[in-house]
Amino acid sequence: HLDRIGAVDGDVHAFLHVSGESALAQARTVDAAHARGEAGASALAGVPLALKDILVQKGSPATAGSKILQGWIPPYNATVTDRLLDAGIVILGKTNLDEFAMGSSTENSAYGPTRNPWDLTRIPGGSGGGSAAALAAFEAPLAIGTDTGGSIRQPASVTGTVGAKPTYGGVSRYGVISLASSLDQVGPCARNVMDTALLHEVIAGHDPRDSTSINRPVPKVVDAVRRGQSDGVAGMKIGVVKELGGEGYQAGVLESFDAAVAALTDAGAEIVEVSCPHFRYALAAYYLILPSECSSNLARFDAMRYGLRVGDIADGGNLVSAEAVMAATRGQGFGAEVKRRIILGTYALSAGYYDAYYGSAQKVRTLIRQDFEKAYGAADVLISPASPVTAFALGEKVNDPMAMYLNDLATIPGSLAGIPAMSVPSGIASDTGLPVGLQIMGPTLGEEPMYRVAAAFE
Ligand code: GLN
Repeated sequence: HLDRIGAVDGDVHAFLHVSGESALAQARTVDAAHARGEAGASALAGVPLALKDILVQKGSPATAGSKILQGWIPPYNATVTDRLLDAGIVILGKTNLDEFAMGSSTENSAYGPTRNPWDLTRIPGGSGGGSAAALAAFEAPLAIGTDTGGSIRQPASVTGTVGAKPTYGGVSRYGVISLASSLDQVGPCARNVMDTALLHEVIAGHDPRDSTSINRPVPKVVDAVRRGQSDGVAGMKIGVVKELGGEGYQAGVLESFDAAVAALTDAGAEIVEVSCPHFRYALAAYYLILPSECSSNLARFDAMRYGLRVGDIADGGNLVSAEAVMAATRGQGFGAEVKRRIILGTYALSAGYYDAYYGSAQKVRTLIRQDFEKAYGAADVLISPASPVTAFALGEKVNDPMAMYLNDLATIPGSLAGIPAMSVPSGIASDTGLPVGLQIMGPTLGEEPMYRVAAAFE
């Protein structure tokens, strides 16, 4: 895999940092244990993985795709990083992302965009475009992503790979650089459903260092995949969400979705149509809640604690106060999209506006959660396209935030409700010749039926 990275990553640019030496050392340790006849630490021992550069790994640079963290070497591991290492999984390096995971194309990275291996003139989705492209380019068989509004599922969809967002609280957020704490979730990515499930079981589970972590047994998603492979979907009720389709969705995507519905029907599922009327407000609510939370979370980048510091007196700079250093550092260190969201969030949270903006967005969030609860009264899992469009051209939407935000039309409702959701490849769009993803959404803690359907569909 290191050779493959050497051969193709100059074009793809999935990686921000490759840990060649430490990966080889780790692999040798696994080999030595194997040679001594010891059982592997897990079914995935020795398998290489690409880690999204928003999780920290001790001693390896962590940038979150931002200039403001340039030069920062974290002194500790995220809980997920520890679990990967304990399982014998070999971490190849850190993958590219939109700055602080804000975006849908990986073009907001301060270190240049990642390209879609299917067509190097196109985007690999975002924010986890680096992880998805590393899988699609066969640079790594496993990857870790984070999903706040779709950053695992939409990149999986446009690169023809698999990615799952667990139930909120299913995987620890300790050591994940926070975007929006009530939405962020770490998840497994791979090229097939079984690999995704195996990785899911490695990273999931209670962590006392994350106060939102769920203290329940890890869902048996590997068994669920086996069941999907042997029994299929016979007898399951699958809901098609009326509001996640139609306007704003590419013809080739809808055609592929209809074919997926037909295939699931043939496989013995009962298809029911469900209506979630408040989903039309999901994007608007998300773009108040997310900026509000991120404006607060990003206050920690104050030029004192991490990475970049501009105009430091010690460097011969002429700024005279800590506040001036902070303003200069944040001014230069953050990109345009990050500044846009900090300003929006600060405004939405200001005295006098709180109820009108943040307060009403939270009410909409509750209504969306109730829409889901009602829908799961009629169906075991829900399905929709994962992304409204296939991979678009680099540069096409980068200067149009609204056009960029619309890429998460199908994924944001599930993020607001905290349910588990994943994208699995559902073929090639007839109009663009590019991969399409099917989104499968389970009820809260319903990872098992979700993976069963994914495996049966694959
Ligand atoms: N594209 C969405 C956004 O820009 C989702 C980001 C994410 O899931 N990290 O907010």
